Amino acid sequence: MGKTEQHTIKSFDPQPRILMGAGPSSVHERVRHAMSRPTIGHLDPQFEVMVEEMKQQLRLLFGTKNEATFPLSAPGSAGMEMCFVSLIQPGDKVIVCRNGVFGRRMEDMAERCGATVVRVDDDWGATVTPEKVEAALRDNPETRVLAVVHAETSTGVRSDMEAICGIAADYECLTIVDAVTSLAGIPVCMDDWGVDAIFAAAQKCLSGPAGLAPVSFNERAVAAMRSRPNKVQSWFLDLDMMLGYWGADGGRTYHHTPPINNLYGLHEALVMINEEGVENVWRRHEQNSQLLDQGLDLLGLEPLVKGAARLPQITTIKVPGEVDATAVRSFLLHERNIEISAGLGDLAGKVWRVGIMGNSSNADYIQALLSALKLALATDRQVA
Ligand SMILES: *Cc1c(COP(=O)(O)O)cnc(C)c1O
Repeated sequence: MGKTEQHTIKSFDPQPRILMGAGPSSVHERVRHAMSRPTIGHLDPQFEVMVEEMKQQLRLLFGTKNEATFPLSAPGSAGMEMCFVSLIQPGDKVIVCRNGVFGRRMEDMAERCGATVVRVDDDWGATVTPEKVEAALRDNPETRVLAVVHAETSTGVRSDMEAICGIAADYECLTIVDAVTSLAGIPVCMDDWGVDAIFAAAQKCLSGPAGLAPVSFNERAVAAMRSRPNKVQSWFLDLDMMLGYWGADGGRTYHHTPPINNLYGLHEALVMINEEGVENVWRRHEQNSQLLDQGLDLLGLEPLVKGAARLPQITTIKVPGEVDATAVRSFLLHERNIEISAGLGDLAGKVWRVGIMGNSSNADYIQALLSALKLALATDRQVA
């Protein structure tokens, strides 16, 4: 006779952290409070009003008038995947720009869709070079889709979407842009840049709850998806079916059950951005990035990326040669409750990544981080 194992489960009440990594960013009390409001049905007319407001504010942030703009019930990576599976058919040629982790992820997705992938490579820490994109399109004029990351979170680099999408337009090539870290941190101008499909995530500069991916598709992208000869291979990420759910025509039909209370949270985060004003939000990110820079300089630390390519919302800091990168991160977390992120891929062990995104972009957090870093470095140097 088997004995039932004694099992204990109790309420989870984590030690709060100062979130300064690559995401999630700090979620404001107002947003957490919004998530605790009563759950209602997702086809309730009240819910619809909230969703329409959310879609409107997302259009403003994406810089678009696209009807097909909505918060996908899934993380940013699923937003990415929705763009790929909807626009790519097996055998299509796809150009993927790779200058960090997320370019590589897009390449993997394109391959899984059966695309023939053409790679445009730039160094980790460098921007995507428009001339290389132009050359790749010249060599492959039949390319159907070009995919590029606006703000590469793995390196802290911003690439020029206006230039790159402009080149794609010359070749009548569809564009997919990863705006996960850029949205609400720096300007995104989907319509002006001629972006066809774009995706973001709630937990970066929007400071909403993780697990929601704002996406937007223009009419060209929707038409391209609708004219496919074969079905999209993913049931859940089929844009056509999804539009039947998120549509504004009053004919919303059940497709899946979205994370209702998380949507209240994202809605409140969008209300807060609207109250502050989106230009002010961008300016705050810029100013706090300068504040961080000055402090790092005093500590003798150097950012990996300099000049116009530098993202204000995510800073990659070079780990000095004699310093143990992991020990410093561990000190920050355990002694100061501050989370920062490690380097990824080509930059593993070589950088720390500090996110000052959304609600985490504030002077108090930056001061706390700088004084903790100072202590961590002094301790680390003593041990070494
Ligand atoms: C975080 C991130 C993603 C993935 O988002 P998840 O919500 O973690 O799936 C994609 N692209 C970039 C640039 C990111 O920073």
